Amino acid sequence: MEKSEKIRYEKLLLDRKKELFESLSEIVQTSRELDPGIAQDIGDKAESSYTKEFLLSLSDTERRQLVMIDEALKRLAAGRFGVCEDCGKEVSKKRLSALPWTPLCIECRQKHEAAQ
Ligand SMILES: [Zn+2]
Repeated sequence: MEKSEKIRYEKLLLDRKKELFESLSEIVQTSRELDPGIAQDIGDKAESSYTKEFLLSLSDTERRQLVMIDEALKRLAAGRFGVCEDCGKEVSKKRLSALPWTPLCIECRQKHEAAQ
């Protein structure tokens, strides 16, 4: 991979990471604000806990993506970025531009999805 490409992917990863941090801190803030309401008003428990669960599940997904971004940045530093972790083939540039943190090529990703 050329250096200019590496820099471009690194920027994509860091931009996404920043975005995630910003939305994560908003989610944590909102869910903290919901907490006292849940404790005080048992009558509205169902609705409140649904909202809280939704927020927590969203932050889980985003946390997982943050981990993937960090791993992608490590692969970039180690010169292994853009190589599928499963089959060792190159991940397509189109896929890397859309999902620069992905560790898998499209074929392996589909295999994983089918196996689940
Ligand atoms: Zn693969």
